[in-house]
Amino acid sequence: MSESPIAPQSAAGAAGAIRIVLVGTQHPGNIGAAARAMKTMGLSRLVLVSPEKPLDDTAYRRSAGAEDVLDRAPVYATLAEAVADCRMVLGCTARSRRVQLEQLEPDAAAQRALQVTAEGPVAIVFGRERTGLTNEELQLCHASVHIPSDPAFSSLNLAAAVQVLAYEVRLAVLAADPAPAEPLPPDAQPATHEQLEGFFAQLAQTLDEIDFHKGRSPDSAMRKLRRLFVRTGLTAHEVRLLRGVLADAQRMARLAGAAGKGPLSP
Ligand code: SAH
Repeated sequence: MSESPIAPQSAAGAAGAIRIVLVGTQHPGNIGAAARAMKTMGLSRLVLVSPEKPLDDTAYRRSAGAEDVLDRAPVYATLAEAVADCRMVLGCTARSRRVQLEQLEPDAAAQRALQVTAEGPVAIVFGRERTGLTNEELQLCHASVHIPSDPAFSSLNLAAAVQVLAYEVRLAVLAADPAPAEPLPPDAQPATHEQLEGFFAQLAQTLDEIDFHKGRSPDSAMRKLRRLFVRTGLTAHEVRLLRGVLADAQRMARLAGAAGKGPLSP
């Protein structure tokens, strides 16, 4: 399969140049599950190298809606053919430092893969369930990728390993291509300086009216309260809500004062 190098308009488009290559897969169900893992993360180019068995019902069932990914997956006899046009080939291994290859963690591998798509297709290669990739196959890779699993139990299920790498590619795409920020509705925007100052003035006045300071200087309490409210990053809406609370407290204090029997009366 040959793909011309793309000039990516967007990172999501660039991810179209990343192919997931499964070598010598023994269980068709794992191929289906890998297709599903890919599709959930926006990847669609699956390539098979000499699978032990053809795709079957289990494969389609496990793909859970990613049949299109399975249907479009070409099959090659060797890994060399499957990656012939690739600018970069990354080989995923369950055992760390198996060959003299640069070893990348999944996030670095995904970022590197996405960058290289500017020059041409990139392959992320996964091995057989029982035996992984052969040393000869790893020699075809530019770098190895190891998911830092527990060394005492390091081997993930094939589709789970595909999921981890596909997720990291997704994160790299989203970081490169952030969704345009939705403008916040006016109420959710941070309060303006003027709105905050209006609130603080009313707070100071309310504290006086409910005799909070009891003869002490109000400065220290107001400084602490200002610091507290500034730290919370109040929105315009929250300032209005707080001012409503203060207004009611002021009203009650005045009523109590007028009745001459409230807590404020001497
Ligand atoms: N018993 C095999 C494991 C094969 S698991 C071995 O020891 O090599 C099937 C494939 O999933 C592996 O070839 C590899 O491509 C991928 N995989 C599983 N665990 C992984 C891990 N921790 N890091 C990277 N790839 C992993």
